[in-house]
Amino acid sequence: MPEQLTDKIVQLALRRGFFNPTAEIYRAPAGFYDLGPLGALVKSNLVSFWIDEFVRRETSYEVFLIDGSLILPYDVLKASGHVDKFSDPKASCKSCGRIYRVDQLIEEALGLKVEGKSLEELEQIVKTRGVRCPHCRGELSDFREHHLMFKLSVGGAEESAFLRPETAQNIFLNFKRITYGMRAKLPFGVAQVGKSFRNEIAPRQSVIRLREFSQMEIELFFAPNDERGPRGFEEVADTEIRILTREEQLHGGEEPIELKAGDAVAEGIVPNRFLAYYLAKEVRFFKLLGIPPENTRFRHLLPEETPHYSGGNFDLEVKFSFGWKEIVGNAYRRDYDLTVHSRGSGEDLSIDNNGVKMIPHVVEPSFGVERIIYAILEHSYREGERDWPLLKLPRIISPIKAAIFPLLDRENLTSKALDVYYALKRSRKAIPVYYDDRGSIGRRYARADEVGVNLCITIDYQTLQDDTVTVRDRDTAEQARVKISDLEDLIYNDMFRLEGV
Ligand code: AMP
Repeated sequence: MPEQLTDKIVQLALRRGFFNPTAEIYRAPAGFYDLGPLGALVKSNLVSFWIDEFVRRETSYEVFLIDGSLILPYDVLKASGHVDKFSDPKASCKSCGRIYRVDQLIEEALGLKVEGKSLEELEQIVKTRGVRCPHCRGELSDFREHHLMFKLSVGGAEESAFLRPETAQNIFLNFKRITYGMRAKLPFGVAQVGKSFRNEIAPRQSVIRLREFSQMEIELFFAPNDERGPRGFEEVADTEIRILTREEQLHGGEEPIELKAGDAVAEGIVPNRFLAYYLAKEVRFFKLLGIPPENTRFRHLLPEETPHYSGGNFDLEVKFSFGWKEIVGNAYRRDYDLTVHSRGSGEDLSIDNNGVKMIPHVVEPSFGVERIIYAILEHSYREGERDWPLLKLPRIISPIKAAIFPLLDRENLTSKALDVYYALKRSRKAIPVYYDDRGSIGRRYARADEVGVNLCITIDYQTLQDDTVTVRDRDTAEQARVKISDLEDLIYNDMFRLEGV
């Protein structure tokens, strides 16, 4: 069997320090991954690019970035609905004892979409359609709900807290302080980047389904009667968005329709301009990350998959080598969260908006960091262009911006190359670079290409005479002669080069 792309990505990730299972030298539970040296750099680049695009450069309204606690009290998650409703259906095999997530098992065995169905309905399907244990063909039994939150006892108290299952809740809890502390006027957003925890039943596919993962979320608060939408809506109104409609899904189809963000609202497909604004911004964001629009679609969740309070959910799905998978959840949460927390806490979370007391409505885009990193890796991986694999990472995401090579391992060349290397490292721009003097230049290019190093800089005999070096571009493999004094600016400008829009 030919090696699958996922296997190649995972092997590359393990070999070169992008990610690996947590505590892999022990027998550790699945669903936990550590980011290695290159993975940690990629994550930090992705997060700062996201903050630039969605927080710092947002000119349609103010977005405030917060950093909240990972541990939240029981009462918060009781009020939000997570204590009572945040679970997945599971069953175990009578013969081998393996535990499965029932809805996934049915989807895989029968190709049926069953999200939103009750535990009883799922059990019925398993029994009548003869779904069995994929491992040993044993009978499935003991159908139960599996709660997805990790329970903690803080200071010895029982059941008093949970690890947060999403970053959103801290934002609602801080809503009033931010409104008054920052003198915020509707519409405004609050963003947060951080860890979330879900005790998934059977996590797999490396970093795609984890029990501990990172989210980048925004809650955008606006007046419910605001039909004008964000200030900059006109700028994105013509952005083409691809929507997999509910009708298409009901017919078993997979073909998205393509329409302009403005028309999607005018035609009543997307419920408001704030949500459409984010869909359009996401199209641009993922293009810049090297994921072409034809490999993305916004799936309008079916009524049975949509929470009762929601005015519409649109999952941004990406085409991976193993199929379509959600990487961003977009939801119109109306006034649900602020209302339940007003009730749960006894604190009135309504605010004064131009003399009118109101609970704002909320649109939420929620990005999963690890899935996006994985999507970028799959979409930038190339074989066949060179004699070795090449990772055409977006320049801004590459973990290392330049590699410094002495042509040969000779003292006069290595000491000059080390001077260049240290000067770049110490520069005010703190450019991520590495130095390598082992093996042939060809081998060193191959090692650099495999992890997406943007530029390779070689110090040769000519350098010793005229202080110039060769700079090789990762994508074209073309080389240019450049003065050492120009290197810092060249690498720095190159690392912010955006391509795709
Ligand atoms: P949700 O709140 O379920 O809509 O999740 C928002 C985003 O978080 C998803 O689009 C994923 O990118 C990410 N995500 C959710 N659950 C997991 C998980 N178990 N492992 C990794 N990423 C996840």
